[in-house]
Amino acid sequence: MKAKKDYKILVPVSGGKDSQTCLKLAVAAVGADNVLGLFCDTKFEHPKTYKHIDDIAKLYGVDIVTVNGGSVLEKSIKYGRFPGGGARHCTDELKIRETKIYLKAMAERQGGFEVWYGMRSDESSERAKRYANKVDETLYHPHEIMRKYPKYLGEMGVRFKLPVLDWVTEQVFKYLDGEENPLYGEGFARVGCFPCLASGDRWKIKAFEHDDFGRSQREAVRQVEVRIGKSIWTSGIGDRHENSGQGCLICSI
Ligand code: SF4
Repeated sequence: MKAKKDYKILVPVSGGKDSQTCLKLAVAAVGADNVLGLFCDTKFEHPKTYKHIDDIAKLYGVDIVTVNGGSVLEKSIKYGRFPGGGARHCTDELKIRETKIYLKAMAERQGGFEVWYGMRSDESSERAKRYANKVDETLYHPHEIMRKYPKYLGEMGVRFKLPVLDWVTEQVFKYLDGEENPLYGEGFARVGCFPCLASGDRWKIKAFEHDDFGRSQREAVRQVEVRIGKSIWTSGIGDRHENSGQGCLICSI
């Protein structure tokens, strides 16, 4: 769906619980007509996540726009490596760049607005440190939250807010009250790409073995492995529990 009017709040939604909480909070604060969701499609999500995006648009009565800057596997071929370690070409090009482009166009069209971002400090010690002293009611220039966002967005009137920064996981699930993505109930602690290729082997194996879609994702990744001459595994597939990283913290809000 294309955005056609002015909005007070834009919420980047991933299909995950924290961004959904922001969407629900924004609707409660200013009404569905004043809220727009933005979904950056990586072309690597589970069908249940795509359906969930449609479901929450209907449930909360909001418009959700989908943007796409390519696919995770295309980016892996382009850069000759899978995401992981310091390489997050997919986050940079499919999430941050697409969001930046959309925010700029929206600010040009209607002037300033707020962006409610679903980051939570209890998601990781790295995040807790990065967002230490960030108050959940405070409005920030985008580059103050993430340096990859240009300063001109702030000059155009775009402001970031972190409404669930101090929420703990239990609060989030309680607030959503069963409205969250069903993949959580199937044992996935994070929802983003299926799987996030930057996550540890244990999580990748879990997704690849989960269902028919997971198995088809494994096959698609296998073809890219052959093409770029790199393995998707980072810890040795025999040791399934060694690497427990759960994936990208930006993508899975
Ligand atoms: S969830 Fe993982 S694989 Fe998907 S875009 Fe983010 S870092 Fe890349």
